[in-house]
Amino acid sequence: MSIKFNQVTHIYDNSAKKDINDGAIKNINLEFSNPNDFVCIVGKTGAGKSTLLQHINGLMLPTYGTIDVMGETIKNKKNKKLKTIRSKIGFAFQFPEYQLFEETVFKDIMYGPLTFGYSYEDAKAMSLRVANELKINETLNESPFTLSGGWQRKIALAGILSYNPSVLLLDEPTRGLDPNSSEEILELFKKYADNGKQIIMITHDMDIVYRYATRVIVLDEGEVAFDGKPLDLFKQDISKLGLEKPTILKTIDYLNQNLGINIKYDKYTMDDLISQLKEELKNE
Ligand code: ADP
Repeated sequence: MSIKFNQVTHIYDNSAKKDINDGAIKNINLEFSNPNDFVCIVGKTGAGKSTLLQHINGLMLPTYGTIDVMGETIKNKKNKKLKTIRSKIGFAFQFPEYQLFEETVFKDIMYGPLTFGYSYEDAKAMSLRVANELKINETLNESPFTLSGGWQRKIALAGILSYNPSVLLLDEPTRGLDPNSSEEILELFKKYADNGKQIIMITHDMDIVYRYATRVIVLDEGEVAFDGKPLDLFKQDISKLGLEKPTILKTIDYLNQNLGINIKYDKYTMDDLISQLKEELKNE
């Protein structure tokens, strides 16, 4: 299961001038081929993140270049296979709950599998499996519009997970949620990644990148400015890319500077960091 961008440029302006430098994304070459990857896409507002993401399932078509997606090629013209591609690649826009529309939660979750051609019985089994997993069974007969924001977000995501896509494209899925709901949803995505689904998520939150990403891609003015492991990114001077360090690494910088110690960057929890700090102070 693989996704490959081949020199992809997208130019919004349809005027005569079609120079690659006018692209919202420019000459992008990227490959997403590792199941289990939790990829975060970061960068300043306007860097091209949403544009990039929407090319992966053909919501947008490239002006130049092609995208190979699971044996199909997306080019600059309509492709009858887009529906097949979309059944394998789930897309959650920002605030996906705005797209809830059915009169009950159950009908909303069933919509995807039914649209993608599953029988009613299969769609029901798929929807109930996801409802169980997300612990939303108790709401199945309710109207989604009577529920709180956190619940609505979970239901909207259940409506994507129910048709069992292999790749999940997520545009800031925790935006506007309280910390508990955010944590719950991120842990769910982590579980999906661990079980072989690829997660490709836009985020502005470097704490999420630090904690969850196995790979981070930085876009800057429509181009890939970094593609690699989060810790390798945070060792660089990232302020020019409009990025901040995660809280734990900022804390480490502060401790190192003020205590004259040298805690190395690593993937720590707060508890790990405290143990590391005790070690360093012992060596003083
Ligand atoms: P990001 O998701 O990183 O904030 P976008 O992909 O939304 O970036 O935008 C990339 C560039 O494309 C920006 O310069 C933005 O103004 C422009 N852009 C985005 N959407 C449109 C649109 N519908 N029409 C014209 N320009 C757009």
